[in-house]
Amino acid sequence: MSVLVYTENWDGKFKKLSYELITYASRIAEMTGGSVTAMSVGKVGEDELSKLGNFGASTVLSAGEAGVLDNQLYTGIITAAAQKVDAKVIVLSNNNTGKALAPRLSVRLKAGLVSGVTAVPESSAPFVVEKKVFSGKAFANVRILSDTAILTLSQNSIEIIDTGGTASVEAFEPGTDTSQAKTNLRDVQKQSGKILLSDAEIVVSGGRGMKSGDNWKPLEELADILGAAMACSRPVSDEGWRSHDEHTGQTGKIIAPDLYLAFGISGAIQHLAGVSSSKYIVAVNTDKDAPIFEAADYGIVGDALKVLPEFIKEIKAAKTQ
Ligand code: FAD
Repeated sequence: MSVLVYTENWDGKFKKLSYELITYASRIAEMTGGSVTAMSVGKVGEDELSKLGNFGASTVLSAGEAGVLDNQLYTGIITAAAQKVDAKVIVLSNNNTGKALAPRLSVRLKAGLVSGVTAVPESSAPFVVEKKVFSGKAFANVRILSDTAILTLSQNSIEIIDTGGTASVEAFEPGTDTSQAKTNLRDVQKQSGKILLSDAEIVVSGGRGMKSGDNWKPLEELADILGAAMACSRPVSDEGWRSHDEHTGQTGKIIAPDLYLAFGISGAIQHLAGVSSSKYIVAVNTDKDAPIFEAADYGIVGDALKVLPEFIKEIKAAKTQ
């Protein structure tokens, strides 16, 4: 079975999620006796492209710059690649990009779509795959009945495996007409010096247990030392202690960092919906029965305002060793 992966890059470097997607795709290819083709759009060097072979891609289709950043145009490029390799499974990330592209691809290719998958398919004939439901509180197994399946993978669902393999890189001309684009990105105004929450590998987050917006200094210091992005629970942004673009959860940003540090956050289901895909969660809360401890890998029962200075001291000491 031919499996196509839509990879993502930034400034010519592949995002970690691309390696996870390829590892996932190669597990499907192993099950079905197929091969993995990775596709890349944008200016990425030959060395970086061939690195995708380490994670299980046998071929990399490099489409170069698309010219215009438009979801319909990108859908056309991925459709052309899927047709070229006769892909029966197409894998994308379950992030904003995947959520924009996968439904469009599903319509174009008349393919069944399962979003937010969390595991390698249980079987490939019939195609049955697991996904999160009820804000991550339960799992469902979904059977795909169409010839082609589209899957968006929840981040941090599987361990990245470096197999040391090699991939052949091919230039890919999808023949798309940029004049047909319906939208175009005019410019991006990125706050300099700030780590983007959606891309951050470490996130430091505060909840109502921090008591006041004036108490954010130690959280900012910790984020600074760790090179982390800042986040918060919704009540914190509703109170105006932090800006709304830091609020994570069902109605805020959905993130999947390697490490999520939660200070004074209860762990309500709506909050966990946005952070439960984090690889590790560390929580500090005065209430030993707070639901965040059920989701956390490590927990400290204590006052965040007292724990934070100790935390910062220990991390500074560890960094100088
Ligand atoms: P609280 O629930 O007030 O919890 C504060 C925690 O801090 C408690 O566990 C307490 O034990 C602890 N604490 C108190 N003092 C200290 C201290 N000194 N040190 C350490 N710990 C301390 N919420 C989101 O976050 N994101 C969403 O996207 C979101 N969407 C929602 C959508 C809907 C439709 C609804 C109804 C709600 C939504 N909510 C969302 C709100 C959510 O239900 C919770 O109310 C919210 O997450 C709670 O925020 P919190 O944990 O900061 O505050």
